[in-house]
Amino acid sequence: MTLVPTPIPSPLVDRVAPVVPSTGALRPVPAGDVTLTGGFWGDRQEINARATILHCLTWMERTGWIANFDLTANGDAAPRHGREFADSEIYKLLEAMAWEIGRTGDTELEELFQDLSRRVLAAQSPDGYLSTQFGGPGQPERYSDLEWGHELYCAGHLIQAAVARARTVGLDDDLVRGAIRVADHVVAEFGPAGRELIDGHPEIEPALAELARVTGDERYLRQAALFVERHGHGLLRPGEAEPAYFQDEVPVRDGTVFAGHAVRAMYLAAGAIDVAVETGDDELLTAVERQWQHTLERRTYLTGGMGSRHDWESFGEDDELPSDRAYSETCAAIGSVMVGWRLLLATGAERHADQIERALFNVVATAPDAAGTSFFYVNPLRRTVPGVPALADEPSPRASSSQRAPWFEVSCCPTNTARTLASLAGYVASTDETGIRIHQFAPAEIDTVLADGSPLRLRVATGYPVDGRVEVTVLVAPERTWSISFRVPSWAQNVTLEGPGEVELGDCRIALRGAIPAGETVVLTLPVEPRITHPDRRIDAVRGCVAVEAGPLVYCLESVDAPVGADLAEASVPVGAAPLRGDGDVLALPVAFGASASPTNLIPYHRWAERGSSTMRVWLPLQSDQTIPEGEEAHS
Ligand SMILES: [Zn+2]
Repeated sequence: MTLVPTPIPSPLVDRVAPVVPSTGALRPVPAGDVTLTGGFWGDRQEINARATILHCLTWMERTGWIANFDLTANGDAAPRHGREFADSEIYKLLEAMAWEIGRTGDTELEELFQDLSRRVLAAQSPDGYLSTQFGGPGQPERYSDLEWGHELYCAGHLIQAAVARARTVGLDDDLVRGAIRVADHVVAEFGPAGRELIDGHPEIEPALAELARVTGDERYLRQAALFVERHGHGLLRPGEAEPAYFQDEVPVRDGTVFAGHAVRAMYLAAGAIDVAVETGDDELLTAVERQWQHTLERRTYLTGGMGSRHDWESFGEDDELPSDRAYSETCAAIGSVMVGWRLLLATGAERHADQIERALFNVVATAPDAAGTSFFYVNPLRRTVPGVPALADEPSPRASSSQRAPWFEVSCCPTNTARTLASLAGYVASTDETGIRIHQFAPAEIDTVLADGSPLRLRVATGYPVDGRVEVTVLVAPERTWSISFRVPSWAQNVTLEGPGEVELGDCRIALRGAIPAGETVVLTLPVEPRITHPDRRIDAVRGCVAVEAGPLVYCLESVDAPVGADLAEASVPVGAAPLRGDGDVLALPVAFGASASPTNLIPYHRWAERGSSTMRVWLPLQSDQTIPEGEEAHS
């Protein structure tokens, strides 16, 4: 039985990409035009396909979260399982599956998708409403708890799954039709003549804007704009929370920095950018870019992680970036990839892709273990006591699990990671008016068309991020002058670019321009030698410390690499010490645990906690020759 639907001839299907703005400085090279061929991300995408997606499906059957849809479909008043937002995890999994089916045409996965989609849609009411938490027998009324109920948040994730489906197989699909009915219901309920309210957790905003792009139906865009504009007017009853927690304190266009719940802030920002781009609202776009820039400068960890408070999973104030109490939720980093990518496409400013790289290598890659079946929810930069192994057979509490856990009571991060990895090829490159721009460096085959319709095929070979050589072989190229441009990461000094053409330097990028024919090779060399990084002097928590990085990778010292019995709390680095390359991605750095320093291995942060329980530090104190005068006590 063939279950993969025949792609319908639709102009939409050729834009198989996570975000498809109708205008902007850059146009995404669709995920469908980029094949990751192994390497750091290609390998992770395969593990995601082979292990993570089925792992999520299995856990959601086991926990009864999928069966919630069966209960709703049958009008069964039996107790529902999981948290109020559990539906969204099924939707994010459907999105991951849709991207994966689009990538590989996997017929077995298509069968699972169809089955899951059928069970979800069976729970939809005739008027389009779809939730397993509200409106059923014995359940609270629909939209009776917009602050905490996550109804529109869940609807948003269903719509995003449908957008992925529409972009991979076309609009003629049951899930797409179901999501359109949901969107129509939302527009009817919350439109200009409806309830003047918002959801406590943004997500419906980018989802509706993207649905408008897929369907061409402007009502969804107008509704997304309404939701964005309604934020910041105190429409929600915050209860114990602050209005800032739900981004309901300051209107989006008046904000100066992201605040409140970090994931919510990122999702709303993504929606605001989508609305700004589609409506030509430059003021709104500038407002979001301003908040983003301030947040990157003052409220973002070295790893690209965001959100420094466990309380309310929120951003702290400027420079409030403790290592040990870092929350840095995996989903917030994914949200920052969504925002960075949208700003990059809208403005063409290559610096926005730096945060994408930093968050991907140091948070998104950190979350899953090597097998792709257990995950970090929070990503602190220091662990002061050895972690306790997570529960193998039941969901772990979200933040207290100090080791990766197979599943969580709040399990947003595993499914979010799955959908991101499945669509990752869509974040590699874009086209501008003259040629192609490479934003992320990964072994890949790129087969696309430039802005004027001329075909371009490239093969990218690289051992990045351990090796800084990125070799691009031109397989098919236009006969006219064209350009290939590469992001120059902010950490990269002395980048070289070789090839037949004229080298041009731009803001955070380097390009080769010429009539570069097929058969030629272009070589970018990035300096990925290990380096010492000093913290921003405004951050109290890490003053006097250094970190070690190599290329985009943040490194850490893990107790399993320290001398037996050594306490990481006593670790220090001699002034002037330089990290050296060891085997593979391992570095060696002189570290002292007493008087004298000896070379000690550091590993990429994304691999920490893979060798059992340990303590860990990213920031290491510099040895000081200043002694405290006698009689004066040291204070902590
Ligand atoms: Zn999460």
